[in-house]
Amino acid sequence: MSEFEATSLRDALCGTLGPSDVGRRVSVCGWVARRREHGEHLAFLDLRDRSGIVQAVVAGTLEVRNEYVVRVTGTVAPRPEGTRNERLATGAVELTDCEVEVLAESEPTPLPLDEHAEADEAVRLKYRYLDLRREPMQSHLRLRARVNAALRAAMDAQGFVEVETPLLWAPTPEGAREFVVPSRLHDGEFYSLPQSPQIAKQLLMVGGFDRYYQIARCLRDEDLRADRQFEFTQLDLEASFVTQEDVRRFVSRAVLDAAEVATGERPGAIAEMTWAEALDRYGTDKPDLRFEMALADLTAAFATTGVRALQAPCVKALRVPGGASLSRSRLDQLVERARALGARGLAWFRVGPDGLDAPLAKVLSPDEAAAVAGVDGAGPGDLVLAVADAHALACRVLGALRVELGAPPVSAGPHRYVWVVDFPMFEGLDEEGNPVAAHHPFTMPHPEDLDRLGSDPLSVRAQSYDLVLNGWELGSGSVRVHRPDIQREVFRSLGISDEEAEYRFGFLLGAFRYGAPPHAGFAFGIDRLVAIFAGVENIREVIAFPKTQSGADLMTGAPKVISERQRRDLHLGPVRPA
Ligand code: ASP
Repeated sequence: MSEFEATSLRDALCGTLGPSDVGRRVSVCGWVARRREHGEHLAFLDLRDRSGIVQAVVAGTLEVRNEYVVRVTGTVAPRPEGTRNERLATGAVELTDCEVEVLAESEPTPLPLDEHAEADEAVRLKYRYLDLRREPMQSHLRLRARVNAALRAAMDAQGFVEVETPLLWAPTPEGAREFVVPSRLHDGEFYSLPQSPQIAKQLLMVGGFDRYYQIARCLRDEDLRADRQFEFTQLDLEASFVTQEDVRRFVSRAVLDAAEVATGERPGAIAEMTWAEALDRYGTDKPDLRFEMALADLTAAFATTGVRALQAPCVKALRVPGGASLSRSRLDQLVERARALGARGLAWFRVGPDGLDAPLAKVLSPDEAAAVAGVDGAGPGDLVLAVADAHALACRVLGALRVELGAPPVSAGPHRYVWVVDFPMFEGLDEEGNPVAAHHPFTMPHPEDLDRLGSDPLSVRAQSYDLVLNGWELGSGSVRVHRPDIQREVFRSLGISDEEAEYRFGFLLGAFRYGAPPHAGFAFGIDRLVAIFAGVENIREVIAFPKTQSGADLMTGAPKVISERQRRDLHLGPVRPA
C-alpha cells in the first residue's frame, strides 16, 4: 500500500500481502469472508477487502460471523509447509499473532458473496450494495473508472474543455421520448431531462468554446434492453472549425486510448465503411466484423428466373458455414424468423457433394444452381440462405440472420471497430408521410444534396457517422447545421412548422443569427464500451445502480408514489383511484 493509500486505521491491503512482507506487523481492514474453527482455541479468518483475501490465524475464541467488518493487526508469516493455498494470491502467507477489532456486525446476507456463487439477479439488484462487494462488480466498476480517466485524459490532451450542461432543460427532439419534471414555481409547466447535451453543446460553440467535452448523463424514456437503460453515460464532444474527419480523429484517439488502458493492447487504426456498403455487405448499419459471412448478391443470376419465389428487384444470399447440418425444424424456424422480419420468404439450400439439396433445387436452372452453390466460396456442408425482395429489406433480413447464426458471444474477441459514414439524412417516412431523421434534426445534409431537401428528402445524404464495435453502435455524430435558413428547412422537411420550431428551438435559431461557427461533434456510450471491454452482455453489469427491464429500481423501490402534499405543490392533482 502506498503512503497515500495508508490511513490511520490500516497500512496494508489484504490481497497484496506476500513473501516480501514476511515479518511486517500490519493492520488490515475488511469483511470476514469465511471463518473456520480449529479446535477450541484457534480460528482461521479469511479477510476480504477490495484487493483480495488474506488469511488471519487468531488464537482464542472469536465472536465474528461472515461479513462482519473487522480490523486485524497481525504479523505476516510464511504459511507452514503443506498449508499453502495455490489458488489464493496471498496463499503463501498468513497473519499471525493477531488482534481483532470488530468495527461493525452483519446479519446473515440474503445473497452469497462468494465470487463463484451464482446469485439470482433480482436479489442482486435488491441488495446491490452487497452485490457490489463481489469480485465481478468490483472489477467492472474499477475498469469503468479507468476507462473514464483515459477518456478524460485523451480529451484534455487534445485541447478539449470539460463543461457541465444542465439536467433541467427544455424539450428537444432527438427522436426519443423524454422524461419530464413538473415545475413547482410554474403551474402546468415542465422541464425535460436531456436526451443528450446536443443543443447545449452547440450553443457552447456559438459561445466560443471551440472544443467541448463532457462525460454526460443522458436520459431517455425508452423501453429497456440489454444495451439500454433509462439513463446512460456518454462521452459527449463538439468542436468548431472542423471537418467530420477531424471529429473522427478526436474520437478515435480517445477510444483507442481507453481500449489500451482496458485491454493492455492498442487496437490498430479504425477502419471506415460507407453506410451503403455496410447495408449491402452486412445487412445492417452496425456490422459485426469479428466474423465474415458477407452477403452475396444474386440479383443478376436470377434476373430472368422462372422461379416465382425468387423473382424480385433484388436477391441477396448468405452462406452459413457448416449450416447443412441444421435440422429441418431449425430451418423452418429460420423461415419464420425471416417472415417476422418482413421478408416474403426465405429460400434455403444445403450444399452437398453432388450439388444442392433443397425443395427449390429441382426448379433452378443450371446457371442459377451454380450461382447459389458458389455463394461466398460455399462448399459441401454449407448452407445458403436467399431472400428475394427490395434491396434494403433483403439485406436487413439476411443481416439479422447472419448475426443470429454467426456472431460470437460478447465476451469473444477480437475488438473490431469501424466507422460507418455517409448515412442517409432520413430513414423513411412516418405515418403522416413526414421523413424521419436518421440521426437528429441538427445534422447538416450533404452539400450536394441540399437542393433536394424539399423535393426528394429520402435521397439526401447526411454528413453523419457512427462508431461501431463488434456489432454494437457505440455512438454517432455529425456535422451540424449552423445556418438558421438551412435549419428551418430541415425542420420543415421533418414536418415541424415554423411556429413550432420557433416555440421549441427559438433560442437555437436565435443564437445562429449571431455568428455561429461551423461545427461538428459526436457522442458515444460509455456503458456499452465498458460492457464490451468487460465481456458482458448486459450493461447493468457495468452500472452501479441500474434499473430492471421494467424500469424499476429494486433497491430503492423507485418509481414511487409521492405524497398528496408534494403532488399539490407540483400542481399535479390527486391520484385517481384505480
Ligand atoms: N447527441 C447525439 C446522441 O446523443 C450525438 C451527437 O450527435 O453528438 O446520440
